Amino acid sequence: MLASTDGWTSCAQGHRHWGRAGAAGLLLHRDGADGPEVLLQHRAWWSHHGGTWGTPGGALHDGESVDDGALREVREELGLTSDDVVLGARSVDDHGGWAYTTVLARPARPIEAGDLQLDGESTGVAWVPLARLDEVDLHPGLAASLTRLRQLLGHPER
Ligand SMILES: [Zn+2]
Repeated sequence: MLASTDGWTSCAQGHRHWGRAGAAGLLLHRDGADGPEVLLQHRAWWSHHGGTWGTPGGALHDGESVDDGALREVREELGLTSDDVVLGARSVDDHGGWAYTTVLARPARPIEAGDLQLDGESTGVAWVPLARLDEVDLHPGLAASLTRLRQLLGHPER
């Protein structure tokens, strides 16, 4: 059954977005050999902005907090539970009438991409060094938030 907040909506910036109550995603980050690495998933071709790399996430349910929504999405999409991650700061990308909240998190235990159980919405998942994000085709929502996310991760763009 679809939650009542499922459905397309449009924001003040003229985009179409899925999720009438807004959306949330989880940006999992860890310290790699060459600085911070972030866990990104490759979105299935049939999905909105398919073929791009983004954070696991999706539409919030009615009355759901952004933390709960982000955790639900990583459970559905990657098989991770709330015990696997430690939540950190939040970054809100408010478009006017619709917002995407990225919840930063660190792994609570070593998490390797190959151990994750993907659902049908993604075709791959990988730890990508922040320094190499410009080499991958990023989801436009993630690309738009990147400057702010880099600051939260302590690695502003040079
Ligand atoms: Zn928008």
